[in-house]
This record gives sequence, C-alpha cells and structure tokens, in this order.
Amino acid sequence: MQDLALRQRALGALAGVAVGDAMGMPTQTLSTDDIARLYGPIQGFRDASPDQPVSAGLKAGTITDDTEQSLLLARHLIARGGRMDQQAWADELLAWESETHARGVNDLLGPSTKRAIAALKAGVPASEAGRSGTTNGAAMRIVPVAIATPAAPLSSLVDAVEDSCRLTHATSEAIGAASAVAAAVSAGIEGAGRADVLKIALAAAAEGERRGEPPVNGSISARIAEALAPAEGRRGRDAALEIAQQVGNSVSALQSVPMAFAILKLADADPWAAALFSANIGDDTDTIGAIACGMAGAISGISAIPPAMWKLVQEVNSLDIEPVVSGLLAIRAIRSGGAA
Ligand SMILES: [Mg+2]
Repeated sequence: MQDLALRQRALGALAGVAVGDAMGMPTQTLSTDDIARLYGPIQGFRDASPDQPVSAGLKAGTITDDTEQSLLLARHLIARGGRMDQQAWADELLAWESETHARGVNDLLGPSTKRAIAALKAGVPASEAGRSGTTNGAAMRIVPVAIATPAAPLSSLVDAVEDSCRLTHATSEAIGAASAVAAAVSAGIEGAGRADVLKIALAAAAEGERRGEPPVNGSISARIAEALAPAEGRRGRDAALEIAQQVGNSVSALQSVPMAFAILKLADADPWAAALFSANIGDDTDTIGAIACGMAGAISGISAIPPAMWKLVQEVNSLDIEPVVSGLLAIRAIRSGGAA
C-alpha cells in the first residue's frame, strides 16, 4: 500500500511546479518596473498583458514549458521504468516544440536544449551534445526524477539526475543545480524537515557539481549557500526583491536555482507564498516559481496549495497529475527495494 502522506507530498511537488509556473507566466522576462507598470503587484494568477513578449494572449493560470516539459519527462520515465533513452528524449523534445509552435505559443525550447538537439541532429553523439548547457532547463523539469527516486543513497539520486541532464545540460553548474532541486524534492516527499531538506540539497549540489563539464562561471553549491544566507530569519516579498538584486534571476542555473532556494526559505516552504514571491521578482519568474513552489509543495504537501487555485490551474490546462504521480511513485517503490 502506498504511503498516503508520501503521495500527498509527491502530488504537492508536481502541482507546485504547475502553480509556480502559471503564477510567473505573465511576468516572465520582464523587469520589476515593467511588472509594476503592466500589472502592479502580482497577488494571484493574471492574464498575460498584450505587451508580454513571450506569453501575450495566455489566460490566467496557464502553465508554460516548465510544467509541460516536466510532464514530458515524467511520461518518458514511466514508459521506461525510470530509465532515460537519450535519442528518444531528443525526439520527444523536438516533437513537443513542433506541437507547441503549432498552438501559436512562443515559449519554445530554451537555449541549452535547443543547442544540444541541433548538435545531435548534426551528428554529434548524445554524450557530447549537452557539454555547454549551463542554463536552468534541466532543473526546471527535474521534479519527476525526484518523485521516482529516493533521496538516499544520494549518489544514486545524482546518477539519475545526471542521466536526465546528459543530452542538454551536461555541465557542473546545471547538474549540480538540478541535483540540489531533486534532493530537496525527494527528501521533502519522504517527510524530511525544512532544515534537513536544505542540508541534503547542498550535499547533492556538491555531489552533482563534480559531474559533467567543469564549471565555467562558479560553484553552484557555493551560490546556493550564498543565496540562503541573506534569507536567514527573513520572510516576505520585499526580502525576495532585495535578495534577487544580489543573487540574480536570469535563466542561468547559477542565478535562478539559488534564487529559488532563497525563496523557499523566505516563504517558509509555503507553496503559494513561494509562487507569489517568484512572480514579482522579474526575469525568469516562471521557472524560479516552478522550482521554488515545486520544492515547497514537496515539503508541505498538496493540501498547502489553496484548493480553488489548484482547481483553476487544472481546469485551464486540462491537467490530470494523479496517474503521472502514481507511475512515478511505482518506480520509486521499486528503487526503494519494495513492491510497486
Ligand atoms: Mg516557462
């Protein structure tokens, strides 16, 4: 029998990705001045402004690539008992992009994923294609790996993360960042306390950053620790805005993932607060929100997300995450040494 609390937290993780993503959809790529001009403070889901460069025309509560690619990776893993097939994964990402483009959505593959798939199509082996991917695309879609894999032994979790990064983000920064997020989510799902979750995440970042191409711009484990320090003992949106000035909020894994950890702490693992803070800080708001709210959802469970808000996101996007979470938890049960 599946542990009900574990299932609630796994649902919280994936629902958190969708809620944080949807909250940040209207403000993604914008400056804080543009957010103030177009929307005022973000206090809930909003329609994208017609001036939104990426998501103009999208309705309040609409998810973007972060949730869609998380679900794509979840289906990939479920179909293969948790394993990755790099060639099939490349084909699925390309098919997803064509389908997204056909819907008239501008939010397509990110820079590292696009470059890696182009290289693969040009004949570069899958083992080489992701050697320059230092952005946050692997971290933004890592939650399914975390639901499917126990947090201990940590090296096995990082192995699974590295495998999911290999095609597009095979660098120290990106693997370390995705490992930190995966460890936070996996430990959160198991019921680890907030302080323990952060400790395990930092250990995973240190393990992950030893993998892949050597770091170009800095150490992800050091950046996460540096982002958490000013969040100590603080709460609220104003602190998030202030810390974002120091940590950065771009698509770089070295900025957005540490910032998501700072927000997790500032929100005290409340997923709704994490989504709101992320949406207001500007630049890569949807991905920072997806990561921060996903980690908060893993710690606090799906019941911590306001039910009416979660219902809205499910309805707007025709989402049904229950079977996805069941499939991923079945893999986790096998990897934990139990029966599915
Ligand atoms: Mg997005």
